[in-house]
Amino acid sequence: MDLLSRIRNVPDFPKPGIQFKDITTLLKDRKAFGATIDGMIDRYGNAGITKVVGVESRGFIFGSALAYALGLGFVPIRKAGKLPAATLKESYELEYGAAEIEIHTDAIEGRDKVLIVDDLLATGGTLEASARLIERAGGTVHEIWVLMELGFLPGREKLKNYAIHSEIVIPGE
Ligand code: AMP
Repeated sequence: MDLLSRIRNVPDFPKPGIQFKDITTLLKDRKAFGATIDGMIDRYGNAGITKVVGVESRGFIFGSALAYALGLGFVPIRKAGKLPAATLKESYELEYGAAEIEIHTDAIEGRDKVLIVDDLLATGGTLEASARLIERAGGTVHEIWVLMELGFLPGREKLKNYAIHSEIVIPGE
């Protein structure tokens, strides 16, 4: 299925110059959403993954659907200040300023083989920090799954120590 055709491009959101990739048009299409999750089930059903980690907030949508389908637990990585119990925290650079994300210290167990899920790989800062959190928590990263990769940004280079699977590579603006 042509999933790219189900993504809505919104120019100048949330600020001028950004081409925002809106996944709500894919999510509301039951065939496109179903095909996306079915593709993940095919890829990871026999991979020996023990936990699915979703990155706030759009990673929660795909990650939790997959975790349920594979009979696995789901772990959220959230923006700093949202998780209520003890956390590990990582900071990373944004275009302007910095961001912080967290995971609960008890979310990952020593032998966990983790799939990280997010909607979009841009600069790779968010996913690199996410992978660090999982490793600090004692788990190993099996792969990083994203629906879309902005191929004209160096995200893949930043994540060269990890396996990445992107369903859609967007070549340029
Ligand atoms: P980055 O850390 O630069 O790889 O940014 C990744 C995060 O920012 C993802 O969680 C995306 O949801 C969001 N993001 C970055 N650029 C875009 C874009 N053009 N359209 C939609 N979301 C974006």
